[in-house]
Amino acid sequence: MHEPTIAAALISLAQEEAARAGHPGAAITSVTVRVGALRAVVEESLRLAFDVLKANTPLENAELIIQGSPVRGTCRHCGAPFEPPEAIFLCSACGSGDVALAGGDELDLVTMIIEGE
Ligand SMILES: [Zn+2]
Repeated sequence: MHEPTIAAALISLAQEEAARAGHPGAAITSVTVRVGALRAVVEESLRLAFDVLKANTPLENAELIIQGSPVRGTCRHCGAPFEPPEAIFLCSACGSGDVALAGGDELDLVTMIIEGE
């Protein structure tokens, strides 16, 4: 997924959430998003795309806060939890490649602030 696609999805999701909270069309001043490391999102590109796409929407004054989320794995061989430094999914305890991934592919809207709330 490319950053402009993600930014556009976030902007529409934030507006849907505002409407669901009973504030359709309300100005949104802050959006916090959690992006997993596996998404390979370039933070600066996401920020730029967000700034371009938010024009003329209820988010035009919104600040984008990006929280990174590391990849986490659990070894199915020895049970050790670990965070692989790169996209190399080998258990750091025993070297087994038989691991379960527990995080890193998130793309979540964590919180947002609606003006006047
Ligand atoms: Zn292991």
